[in-house]
Amino acid sequence: MQLEVSMKRVSVSYHEPDAPQHFKKTTPEELRLVKNFFAFSTFKMKFSIAVLPFPALFSSLVTASVTCAHSIPPFHHLQFPTWLSSNHSCNGSPHPWNVQSSPGKGLGVFATQTLEIGDIVLQEAPAIKITPPEFRDGVGYPLDTIGLLAREAFEALADDAQAEVLALHAHLFDGEKVKAGNEQLISIFRSNAYNTGKQIGLFPKIARINHSCRPNTSYFWSERLNKRIVYATRRIEEGEEFSVTYIPLLLSQEERQKRLNQYGFKCGCEACAARDEDLETSNTRRKQIRDLFNDLEPKLTLDKPKTVVAKKKAQRMAEEGLQLVQLIEEEGLADYFAQAYRLVAITHARIEDWQPAAMWAHKSYQIRMMADSEAEETKEMEVLLGRFIASWNDSLARKSNSKR
Ligand SMILES: [Zn+2]
Repeated sequence: MQLEVSMKRVSVSYHEPDAPQHFKKTTPEELRLVKNFFAFSTFKMKFSIAVLPFPALFSSLVTASVTCAHSIPPFHHLQFPTWLSSNHSCNGSPHPWNVQSSPGKGLGVFATQTLEIGDIVLQEAPAIKITPPEFRDGVGYPLDTIGLLAREAFEALADDAQAEVLALHAHLFDGEKVKAGNEQLISIFRSNAYNTGKQIGLFPKIARINHSCRPNTSYFWSERLNKRIVYATRRIEEGEEFSVTYIPLLLSQEERQKRLNQYGFKCGCEACAARDEDLETSNTRRKQIRDLFNDLEPKLTLDKPKTVVAKKKAQRMAEEGLQLVQLIEEEGLADYFAQAYRLVAITHARIEDWQPAAMWAHKSYQIRMMADSEAEETKEMEVLLGRFIASWNDSLARKSNSKR
C-alpha cells in the first residue's frame, strides 16, 4: 500500500510558505489546526525591514570591494548553483531520480546519481492547475466547484498523463469510503495538490516524494517557469531516497507525529526513530531553535544601538544568533539555514562587526539564490550583502588610513 500523506502542501519552506487546501468541508477542528499552523509559522514569514537606501547594484559593489587595498577575496567569487547557469540541467542529466518502492512507505523517489547542495532534483509543471473559487472561512473551498474545475482540466490531459494522475494515492479520512470516478479524482487532488501562486496545482512526480522530519530537499514554485522545483539541501548519495517536509519541523517528535497522524501515516524518519537521550536532545534542540527564532526575529533591526545597555543587548543578540545557527546545523534542518544566516548577518551588522555580517549575508544569499533567484527574499539578501561588504570595505579603509 502506498502511504503518501494528504495535504502535503502545508509546506514550511522559508521561501514560499504554502497554505493548506480546504476544498473539502472543513470541520471546526481542522480549521483550528490550520489556524494554529499559521499562528505557529508566522515566525518563519519574512518580516520587512526598512528599505535600504542603497541604490548600487550588487555587481558594482563587488567590483568596488576588490579595488580596495585590502581586497576581500571570497565575495567576488560567488558560487551560483549550476542550474542557474546551465539551463537548469543537473549534473548533465535531466532526470537524476527514479520511482521505486520504499520500505514501509509504498513508493518513493530515489537518487540515480550523487547530487550536491543546490542541484535540482526535479522540476515539474502542474498536470492540473485550477484557479480556485473564493476561500470561505469556516467552510473552505466549495467542493463541487473544485471538482468540476479539476475534472475539466483532467479531461484535457493525454491518456498517459491521466493515468499518472489516477495512480496517485488518495488519503481517506476516518469513515470515508474508497472512491471511484470523479470522487476519486477529487480525493487525489485534495491529497496531493499544492498551492501554486494564486492557483492550486497537482504535480504527479513531486507528489511521490515522501516526508522526513530531517529532509534532504526543499522546493519552491516558479511562476516564470510555471514549474515547482525541488532541489537538494545537502549532498545526496546515489541510491538515497529524496525527502521533503509536509509539516513545520520545529516541533517535538510527539507533536510532529500528531500533525502527521491527521494525514494518515506515522513517520519513521531518522529523527523520529531516535530513542532515549538522542530523542530528548533532538526535541530540546528543536524547541530551542523555535524559541530563539521567536525571540530574536521580532527584534531584528539595523538601527544603531545608542546607549551602553542597548549595545550590550545587541552584542548578546549577535551571540544568540550564532547559537541558533549551531543548533540548526546540529539538528540538520537545512530548511532553516537561510533564515538563520540572515539573522546572524543582521545582528552582526548592527554591532558593526562587518566581516561576519558580510560572510553570513553571503551564506544566506547563496541559499536564497539556490532556492529562487527571483524571490523577494533573494533580492533583499543581495542588497544587504552589498551593503555589508561596502561597510566592511569602508572600515578596512579607515583602519588603513589611520595607520598612515
Ligand atoms: Zn519524522
